[in-house]
Amino acid sequence: MKRVSGIKPIDNLVVPELLYGKRLSFEGGGSGVRAIVVQDGILQKDSIYRIKPVSWEELSEWVGWIDEKEKPICKDITTAGVFSQDGVVIESPNLEWLKGHNLCELFRSFCNDLIGAVTGEMYCDEGIIKGISNGVFETIGFGWGGVNIREGVIYKSEPGHKFAGPGLADVPCGCKRDGCKEGVYSGGGVAKQVIAMAYHYFGIKPDSEGNINGLDPCQWLDTEARAGREWALEYYLWLAEGIGHTWADILNGSESIEIVGFMGSFITFGMEFMKETILNTMLKQAMFPVHREALEQQIQTGEETILIRSKLWNKECPGNSFMGAAIYGELSYQGLI
Ligand SMILES: [Zn+2]
Repeated sequence: MKRVSGIKPIDNLVVPELLYGKRLSFEGGGSGVRAIVVQDGILQKDSIYRIKPVSWEELSEWVGWIDEKEKPICKDITTAGVFSQDGVVIESPNLEWLKGHNLCELFRSFCNDLIGAVTGEMYCDEGIIKGISNGVFETIGFGWGGVNIREGVIYKSEPGHKFAGPGLADVPCGCKRDGCKEGVYSGGGVAKQVIAMAYHYFGIKPDSEGNINGLDPCQWLDTEARAGREWALEYYLWLAEGIGHTWADILNGSESIEIVGFMGSFITFGMEFMKETILNTMLKQAMFPVHREALEQQIQTGEETILIRSKLWNKECPGNSFMGAAIYGELSYQGLI
């Protein structure tokens, strides 16, 4: 993978022209892998494939099957993990069976899932960081990653491993440190806490797959919150205040911040219960008038200003990550990034 730090938007880049022909974009993450066709720069949302492979062999077979069926001119992947320069997976926290395999055996190009998302949001027509000079773009799913945008240039960031606060110093994190925000506020951290609460409040133990009542713990939390259960709503309120304070800190870090953009399954699904509290917490703490005005406007009108999300995102298809994989693949193939 090319270095991320210092990725600059390329002037006058026209995505549909860049992505002529039929391509397949893959995305790995959470517990599964998905693929979608990109035809002449347009995502074909009705042609999504998805599986939950448990081995490299199973993935290879499936990729071969789609390849045979669709006959694309190339295949690119964006997935969670750390890779060597030539494509060997060094770490893959969500899809552990990928570790040690070379992505280039199956795909033309590969990039980290955050980079795929950032590339999509930077270049797609409705990308939320397209044209932004200063801000952050964070993904809160199983973990919490992100990038900083400074003067239009993208730099890697580690927002999830900032300190969560003295009262949370003992909470373990996937990075093997304690007290990180990711361990407390990300989907992975929340799932662990929900499992503990399910036992504490209801005596329910997770099944062999780690599910509660047949649901992923975060999905179970959502069904409880949607049913108006006090414990779930109070927990979401607490999470929202923590995330709101975190994002207010970003705004107070510089008057020039134009956006706190986000994506990721946990935060996107959780927004139903957290958005109002996050915005009000940010407003309570924000110092700069430019931020206060934008937040007040967003609270009053619902119009997305400082805090916005991917406009192409929907629950079936996080479009910009797929587009990002295709765009990143083409740009790296052409030696442009
Ligand atoms: Zn950490």
